[in-house]
Amino acid sequence: MTPFAIFGIENSGLNLAVNLVLLFLVVLWIALIYWTFADARRRIEDPMLVGCATAASLFPLVGTLVYMIVRPPEYLDDVRERELEMQAAEARLAQLGYHLCPHCDFEVEKDFLRCPNCMRKLKDPCRSCGKPLDPLWKVCPYCETEVESTAAAPRRARRRRVEDVAEPTQ
Ligand SMILES: [Zn+2]
Ligand SMILES: [Zn+2]
Repeated sequence: MTPFAIFGIENSGLNLAVNLVLLFLVVLWIALIYWTFADARRRIEDPMLVGCATAASLFPLVGTLVYMIVRPPEYLDDVRERELEMQAAEARLAQLGYHLCPHCDFEVEKDFLRCPNCMRKLKDPCRSCGKPLDPLWKVCPYCETEVESTAAAPRRARRRRVEDVAEPTQ
């Protein structure tokens, strides 16, 4: 059966040792395939790519080594957890009254009329009591003076930084 069988009975010890080494290598190979599959499933969302990684690990040792070099550095669970934490942090800041200028992301106070950094208008003062008015308000909540609609103030949505950078100065 093995190449060493030809040496006869006196080499049966060596024979056994070779068989054990071969068995060990096969077990190690199967374990590495399983490990690659399990690890890829924790790091890669696309089942196609998980399949590719597992297929690559069919090449003994080399496949698994290559997978370890090119695999994503983070577990999917960690990525999701970090995103959730960032959302929670943003919500906390908004609750604490932490506001950002919609034009330049500079930190501003809730009642600023103008952004101190980019000098753009943030709010109009009430023409009766002078308190800063949100552009969405139709009436001043402090003195009940009606707000004259100044060309239907556009709704300010928080834009992404990329657009902020690309936006031309007015
Ligand atoms: Zn600004
Ligand atoms: Zn007012």
